[in-house]
Amino acid sequence: MLSCKDVTEKSSDYLDHKLPLLTRLSVRVHLFVCVRCRTYVKQLRATVASVGLLRNQASVSEEVVETMVTALQKDTSKDP
Ligand SMILES: [Zn+2]
Repeated sequence: MLSCKDVTEKSSDYLDHKLPLLTRLSVRVHLFVCVRCRTYVKQLRATVASVGLLRNQASVSEEVVETMVTALQKDTSKDP
């Protein structure tokens, strides 16, 4: 069983589909039982998606990304 620390460390590879199958399954099992890591991965996925979208646009400032990340964090904190 993975710890929360393991899952947060692996989460970006998990989202990039870089983990070996067994590790990936372990992460999925952990996410199924652990709401905190589930929220973390959900938030990370949203952030990665937003940053990916922004990269396609002409001008991206750090400030814009910061604002979006803050907004996402506020949004996530409303979840029980
Ligand atoms: Zn966890």
